Amino acid sequence: MQNKRTVTVIPGDGIGPECVGAAMKIIDAAGVSIEWEERHAGERVFKQGIPSGVPADTIESIKKNRVVLKGPLGTPVGFGQKSANVTLRKLFETYANIRPVREFPGVTTPYSGRGIDLVVVRENVEDLYAGIEHMQTPGVAQCLKLISRKGCEKIVRTAFEFARAEGRKSVACATKANIMKMTEGLLKKTFEEIAPEYPDIESWHVIIDNCAHQLVKKPEQYDVIVTTNMNGDIISDLTSGLVGGLGFAPTANLGNDIAIFEAVHGSAPKYAGKDVINPTAVILSAVMMLRHIGEFEAATRIENAVMVTIEEGKAATGDVVGYDNGAKTSEYTQAIIDNLGRKPATWQARDHQAIQMPTVSDEPATVVPASRRVIGADIFIEWPQNAESLGQSLDSVVADSPFRLKMISNRGTKVYPVGDTAPDCVDHWRCRFVLRDAAADATPDMVMALLTQVAAKHEWMHVEKLPEFNGEAGYTMAQGED
Ligand code: NAP
Repeated sequence: MQNKRTVTVIPGDGIGPECVGAAMKIIDAAGVSIEWEERHAGERVFKQGIPSGVPADTIESIKKNRVVLKGPLGTPVGFGQKSANVTLRKLFETYANIRPVREFPGVTTPYSGRGIDLVVVRENVEDLYAGIEHMQTPGVAQCLKLISRKGCEKIVRTAFEFARAEGRKSVACATKANIMKMTEGLLKKTFEEIAPEYPDIESWHVIIDNCAHQLVKKPEQYDVIVTTNMNGDIISDLTSGLVGGLGFAPTANLGNDIAIFEAVHGSAPKYAGKDVINPTAVILSAVMMLRHIGEFEAATRIENAVMVTIEEGKAATGDVVGYDNGAKTSEYTQAIIDNLGRKPATWQARDHQAIQMPTVSDEPATVVPASRRVIGADIFIEWPQNAESLGQSLDSVVADSPFRLKMISNRGTKVYPVGDTAPDCVDHWRCRFVLRDAAADATPDMVMALLTQVAAKHEWMHVEKLPEFNGEAGYTMAQGED
């Protein structure tokens, strides 16, 4: 007798239990031998007073089973606890979020007949989603956008390996490197370094806003798109919309050890418990999960049954035909079970192979430059008056210092020395001090002494050294700074 594979299942919040229940029922009906270990995360766990939303027995189960089928988890918006989804992705370092969309037979959209078949490979643990935020003054908030060379390498290699595993022809890298030259630029640079290792796959860079435009205008030009976390979050909802909406968009969160399968959509609380939602996204996430655990035949059988059901339109859910006419979630699920063993007339499953995840060391990554020095520091100051009064005060503070005040910016635009323009200012000022001796290296003691001098007269909240690596500035200029 075949050994049962144990999978952790998290039903989730809102519509989650209905979607996940449908997927489990279909997998069981397809005869796949899975032992479901039910665990919880999200809203009901927050309510138990566990602030992370992820209890210890869930973590233990995931560590043991290494494969998770998960429903969406609700997150309070704009206040309260952190997202338990993001916590799960980060705890288990599932750094790659694979979001395929493909035209469905029988789901009519403005794009029907165009042959959309693309995958967004979204970096899943870095970027603004590192969630490092501070109120720097009572009226100014900051979120750190952290992007690492190691994180870029992992996601870029995953995108190319994924393209190879699925026989796809191209990988486009979508970034905002024209504006965020260091963070988004690091993904672009890493992509351009690694792409030549995959000469069989065409590659190019596209600016993310143009990518969104192109996706609406000519989506069929894309095959695989690799991008940063926030960009990927947004464009993958867009790509879901191209093929019928969030009810149809599956996703896999892949790490080197653990994989979490879920829908792109959230808990859609207004539909919870009504037996009306479309469970396709979670069912197709379960199909991705089956391929991940090597159940290729069962995966294709279920995928075919889903496509037959959609193609014939006899059990279409409310999001496709309107909620007055839509089939119940349970009827649609039963129709898929009844269609197991059938093949759609106009749709063919892809030939899938296991993805070769990149091997990157677990050790902390260090990039060692040939040379490095510090040429100054940005000190961030809270100041209730105007730029000129702050500038004059700081000029006098550093009159006898090895540093001079080069400029002050407000929300990224130079405001001191005062120029011809008058930007609208807030009480948060970035004050850039540079060494008077342009060839020198500022030691930590020198930066500390500068900070002590400034702190004696001003309310500072943050300091950032200005590094140079291999002779190149490791900081950007303010708008208007020369
Ligand atoms: P959402 O739950 O994805 O719902 C947005 C809209 O998408 C719904 O109102 C509905 O559209 C449609 N929709 C989503 N899933 C559907 C399905 N299976 N069948 C049919 N239609 C579906 O997004 P949200 O309202 O922004 O977020 C609700 C909660 O979910 C929040 O707490 C959020 O943090 C959380 N969330 C969790 C995850 C996750 O667990 N991975 C992801 C995203 C959001 P119509 O209103 O047009 O019918």
